[in-house]
Amino acid sequence: MVPVEETMSDFLRECGGVAVIDGGLATELERHGANLNDPLWSAKCLLTSPHLIRTVHLDYLEAGADIIITASYQATIQGFENKGYSLEESEKLLRKSVEIALEARDVYYNRCRETSSEPTPDGIILKERPILVAASVGSYGAYLADGSEFSGEYGDAMDLEFLKNFHRQRVKILADSGPDLIAFETVPNKLEAQAFGQLLEEEGIIVPAWLSFNSMDGINVVSGDSLSECVAIAESSKKIVAVGINCTPPRFIQDLILSIKKVTAKPILIYPNSGESYDAATKEWQDRGVSEKDFVSCVNKWCEVGASLVGGCCRTTPDTIREIYKTLSSRRRSSTHGVDFVLT
Ligand SMILES: [Zn+2]
Repeated sequence: MVPVEETMSDFLRECGGVAVIDGGLATELERHGANLNDPLWSAKCLLTSPHLIRTVHLDYLEAGADIIITASYQATIQGFENKGYSLEESEKLLRKSVEIALEARDVYYNRCRETSSEPTPDGIILKERPILVAASVGSYGAYLADGSEFSGEYGDAMDLEFLKNFHRQRVKILADSGPDLIAFETVPNKLEAQAFGQLLEEEGIIVPAWLSFNSMDGINVVSGDSLSECVAIAESSKKIVAVGINCTPPRFIQDLILSIKKVTAKPILIYPNSGESYDAATKEWQDRGVSEKDFVSCVNKWCEVGASLVGGCCRTTPDTIREIYKTLSSRRRSSTHGVDFVLT
């Protein structure tokens, strides 16, 4: 068995050095007709329309994503219980988020086996390759659904034990549901990063994890905590196999990668948002973001300065991911030497 700390580097080697992460889930679910105006946000679809989640996962796989992230970002036992679900039902919904993604991967592999061409004329990429399912764990602020995942301000009374206990059962259930990775996403402050790191140890979680922060200024994480100190938490854990940034405007990404690189030799992941800003009060997106073309034109630069996993967060689409896949293809070809991937 591969030691947990080598799982990501092995995967990246199989991918030819760089891997593609999927794009925005909630915004795609809305495009497919889901109404997500709810504290559960994308997790609401676990209840109402799991088939849409599967469709979006498949769209991303067919756009070239090597890693798909489950719809559990805002899925918490406490959130489901607030909606009147029992503990048992809540745990079942968490498991379901992983099952849907695993199912989408199976469907994708079957489609690959049925066709041999790649890519197909309509831009669908059907290529057998290693694909990872990452179980999303959003921050405590994401559960609060009051925008505090974008401020990192949980109040002075907040402490490590509270955060660990808030996430504990959810992380255990997700880890036991068969994902390849746990994606701690949009982590807004150092305290929550510590909570995640300690939880992995305390609960003996054997699924490798990544830790992804967000930033509003290109220097610190959103709470104002030092990015270096946050990344150091990932660096000190063998169970955390990659670290990086998500849900942050593209214009900040390059500097953030350079800062992260000073603290860790672990693979760096980035999946920025489209650059539009989210207004937590109105729950709407404001401002115009960068164009898809501008976003994708940064991808090579980001890889040159140290990123090895690239995807998109809110408001990015399968088209964005398809362009990232195409952009990274030449990079992958030049770094792949005799790597054979056998689908088991
Ligand atoms: Zn986002």
